[in-house]
Amino acid sequence: MTRFAIKGIDPVLFRDVELIVRLFFEEVQLTETDDRADFQLEFTLDESEAIEVRVTLTADKVQWSAEHVRSIEGCTGEKEIRKRMKQAISYVLVQVLERATGIEQPWGILTGVRPTKLFHTLLQKGNSLQEAKRLLEQEYLLHPEKTQILEEIIRRQLTVLPDFYELDKEVSLYIGIPFCPTKCAYCTFPAYAIGGRTGSVEGFLAGLHEEIAAVGAWLRTRGLPVTTIYFGGGTPTSISAEQMESLFQQLKSHIPDFGQVREWTVEAGRPDTLDEEKLALMKRWNVDRISINPQSFKEETLKVIGRHHTVEETLRKYQLARQMGLNNINMDLIIGLPGEGLETFAETLDVMRELRPESLTVHTLSFKSGSVMTQNKEKYRVAGREETREMVRMAREWARDQGYVPYYLYRQKNILGNQENVGYAFPGEESLYNIIIMEERQTIIGLGCGAVSKIISPVSGRLSRLPNPKEPKAYIDTYRRHIKEKLAKLDEAYGITPVGH
Ligand code: SF4
Repeated sequence: MTRFAIKGIDPVLFRDVELIVRLFFEEVQLTETDDRADFQLEFTLDESEAIEVRVTLTADKVQWSAEHVRSIEGCTGEKEIRKRMKQAISYVLVQVLERATGIEQPWGILTGVRPTKLFHTLLQKGNSLQEAKRLLEQEYLLHPEKTQILEEIIRRQLTVLPDFYELDKEVSLYIGIPFCPTKCAYCTFPAYAIGGRTGSVEGFLAGLHEEIAAVGAWLRTRGLPVTTIYFGGGTPTSISAEQMESLFQQLKSHIPDFGQVREWTVEAGRPDTLDEEKLALMKRWNVDRISINPQSFKEETLKVIGRHHTVEETLRKYQLARQMGLNNINMDLIIGLPGEGLETFAETLDVMRELRPESLTVHTLSFKSGSVMTQNKEKYRVAGREETREMVRMAREWARDQGYVPYYLYRQKNILGNQENVGYAFPGEESLYNIIIMEERQTIIGLGCGAVSKIISPVSGRLSRLPNPKEPKAYIDTYRRHIKEKLAKLDEAYGITPVGH
């Protein structure tokens, strides 16, 4: 535990200080006065003409100082000024902590999940791509390697979704199937062993059929087209081919202009759930993309993380999917899995070179609260900051050499080395859904277990979230109430007065 004593700012700002400090130290404690603290932080603030912040960091009689002036031009109210104040505090903090620890923060003062969203906001405010990049480097302290990848991503997004800034005229659907053959150690998704006792698969599917019919009817009356449909979970292909087909049929019957949906993805993450019958079914139904996720090509790692399938099985199922004619396959990799370093990652990339999936998402391991791995963190040996950074760089160069382009990016809390997750694809094979969910450009209606509806009101632009129950048993017991609530919330967001009001 690293202790910080803070002077000179209102304790309500401690949370913002903590967000930055945690980029450098794993466990921290912030207090107002503590003579025994490892670090003393002293701020002076002046808000008269502009926001002027100065900070001094003291540890063992060594001092580091930084100062920054942030203009309040264009601020429309107290909230905006507060935001700039937080930015200014973060700015000086990153500077002194980088010097004191020798750790560089490639994402500067950004601690949020979606740096690309900020880039789009800067563009919508009238900045050019170059100006937006410059602002991110100067005002937010991003390293050029990060602004460069952001620029490439933004360009791709605007190419594959030419109506990017008008996507709120349509919606997307996310369908959550909460079953998996077994539960992986790092998983925090709503995923329940299909053979377990968490509620019947049949009962869950009956509810999901009703939900599809109800949402379909709502879309039809509102005249809203569907941009993308995404089956996630869990592992959707854990259910039988017959059950899958019946769901597809339900979508076709109830979703307006089903044939016009721009993209349809089914996650087939775990190769142990795939067989010829399910692959043929997805081909016949023109599923655009599937995802087969090796996570690692090292047998030992798969065992450690609890994915009860073998490397050989991944390769076999991948070839089978190819033979069955599926021609847009995504693969997910994770950098920094326990026991894996630069050498293993290089081997993984060699296998990927042979497979050439149309797209791949390169995740950096994050210790998510609630996962088995996080609860037993000390048992797992994972790569350090520098090695992680090197692997991220390696993935990027490898992807470029192989002809992939980056097209979406997001960050997570407690991610190794404060890095990021990046989606790469061959040009034209990008997942539209991944872009839409990350950039929060349109309403995504969530159906099924653990699905969160993210409703963006085209009237106010406000985003509201409405989760479905995570657990199958709870879903079965309450789905009718949830359907009602969801449609009411959608009506409200779309400015529709329900009948009888
Ligand atoms: S396959 Fe995916 S959803 Fe299922 S348990 Fe593993 S990580 Fe979780």
